[in-house]
Amino acid sequence: MKHVKHLVNGQPVAGTSGRQQDIFNPATGEKTAVVDLASVSEVDAAVQVAEGAFREWRDVSIARRTKLMYNFRDLVTRNVDEIAKRLTSEHGKVLSDSAGEVARGLENIEFACGMAEALKGGYSENASTGVDVYTVRRPLGVVAGITPFNFPAMIPLWTIPNAIAAGNAFILKPSERDPSTPMFIAELFHEAGFPDGLLNVVNGDKEAVDALLEHELVRAISFVGSTPIAKYIYSTAAANGKRVQALGGAKNHMVVLPDADINLAADAAVSAGYGSAGERCMAISVIVTVGDVADPLIAAIRDRTDRLVIGDGAEATSDMGPLITAEHRDRVASYIQQGADAGASVVIDGREQSFDSDGFFLGASLIDNVTADMSVYTDEIFGPVLSVVRVDTFEESMDLIEKNAWGNGTAIFTRDGGAARAFQQEVDAGMVGINVPIPVPVGYHSFGGWNDSFFGDTTMYGPEGMRFYTRPKVMTSRWPDPATSSVNLGFPTND
Ligand code: NAD
Repeated sequence: MKHVKHLVNGQPVAGTSGRQQDIFNPATGEKTAVVDLASVSEVDAAVQVAEGAFREWRDVSIARRTKLMYNFRDLVTRNVDEIAKRLTSEHGKVLSDSAGEVARGLENIEFACGMAEALKGGYSENASTGVDVYTVRRPLGVVAGITPFNFPAMIPLWTIPNAIAAGNAFILKPSERDPSTPMFIAELFHEAGFPDGLLNVVNGDKEAVDALLEHELVRAISFVGSTPIAKYIYSTAAANGKRVQALGGAKNHMVVLPDADINLAADAAVSAGYGSAGERCMAISVIVTVGDVADPLIAAIRDRTDRLVIGDGAEATSDMGPLITAEHRDRVASYIQQGADAGASVVIDGREQSFDSDGFFLGASLIDNVTADMSVYTDEIFGPVLSVVRVDTFEESMDLIEKNAWGNGTAIFTRDGGAARAFQQEVDAGMVGINVPIPVPVGYHSFGGWNDSFFGDTTMYGPEGMRFYTRPKVMTSRWPDPATSSVNLGFPTND
């Protein structure tokens, strides 16, 4: 049985708390590993190590820091297949999807390779006579990332590269459900030549998270996970004086206008609704059909869904893998019944599909005639369940999205440029796709939703991520002739 430990000061460290959690292969249902869950004192030991590493690292030249980041990029690139294999065996998503998430993570390492440019400060010569003013951005110190199960490679890479390249030390607390992938990435980080202690991985649950939220040496918290926990992280970390960015759950709407290309929209809905078994924060979960587009679109979705191969993500033939745990699979399945009980029409019932496996499989589902008061609409299901809400007008679709609690991603499918532009400007969400169903921004923009999908004010990765992990320092300097000096109690003005 594999034993996932912590990684502190460059070394694997077995936990001492006596608490462990089981890890499963979701495709077989087999228990494959145990992970140690850290205690408060184990978290403290990692933070002390990180603080020591930070004090040296902040003075290392940006040239050296980014050179090591290039090494890291090369190592991750060379190990994409190995990372994907480990990821699929604990998460369940298909191998190509796992490799895809590593590729998106690499974009963030590449952005951090250019940190010298991003960190360049501003300089004002002769702001006052003989006075120069300049701004630099300094690292914060020890910062922490707390990440969810659904992107065990990409989401740690949303934060670690920027934080480290900007001069900070990092504590990662990955999801306890699939920690082997982030552990492997941390090993590659050390292989790249970064000093020990700069990136430490502390595995654990609420106890470890709370220890990070309360530790006086942890200066900033980056969180990605469900909305109730994001709210808790935001309020607790902020109350403890920390900088915090907390990304929460989602309910992403895809609006399909009557003029949309039905095949394009159906391909997008199936890919974005059932990819990764719907366990993506940017998955499409609600299709809003405007006017008479619903019937042909549902027929086209049904046709595609019938042909999906659901199976072990490690098999090249599989399009969709299992869900993360048996409990989660059962919870997702319960929403299909809730939809039916509330009066919606279950067009495709994933519960009817049988699987010759003890894995946590569920077929893809499509529920029509959903209304905004039903739990299938109001709750984040986080599984392969697509709901269809029928509306008559574009304005009604906008209104629906605005009234929804979340605001992560959204998309419109149309050939009408005017409607697309109105959607882009007015829609109540942080990331918008125009004929693009999963508008995850490239690594040199930044990622973050609105409303209940995001708590904080500086979003993740890209330029915003750099700002999150640094604080400005402004210098005002002059080199006057001492002979011209005199006492002046007036407030300094600039002439
Ligand atoms: P989760 O909220 O259960 O867990 C996220 C992290 O918080 C984990 O590291 C976990 O150990 C920790 N945690 C869980 N309960 C805690 C508690 N009571 N106190 C302190 N820490 C706690 O989320 P998950 O199930 O791992 O991931 C799925 C969720 O993440 C979905 O809601 C999804 O939408 C969301 N998500 C959001 C984004 C985004 O960018 N907005 C991206 C990916 C996932």
